[in-house]
Amino acid sequence: MSALVKNIMEKMVEDKLDQMLPQLNCCNCDRCRTDILCYALNRLKPKYVSTEQGELLSRVDSISITYEASIMTEIANAVEIVKKNPHHR
Ligand SMILES: [Zn+2]
Repeated sequence: MSALVKNIMEKMVEDKLDQMLPQLNCCNCDRCRTDILCYALNRLKPKYVSTEQGELLSRVDSISITYEASIMTEIANAVEIVKKNPHHR
């Protein structure tokens, strides 16, 4: 089985955004969602791990605890920006 290099920050931010969106009173369309993701990911350091396929989810769980506070902060910032300047039509 081959090992992969993955930026698990992407997955952690996406998961957290899905948890937070219902309370954020923010548009949930694809365009706004990806805008929020990009904004938050550009401001967070990427977190690369080498992992076997299938092992990834357990790694995300243990690592996301460390980054949870900063991920939530950046998502909240991103939502404010996107709310003010939505790109959807
Ligand atoms: Zn939208």
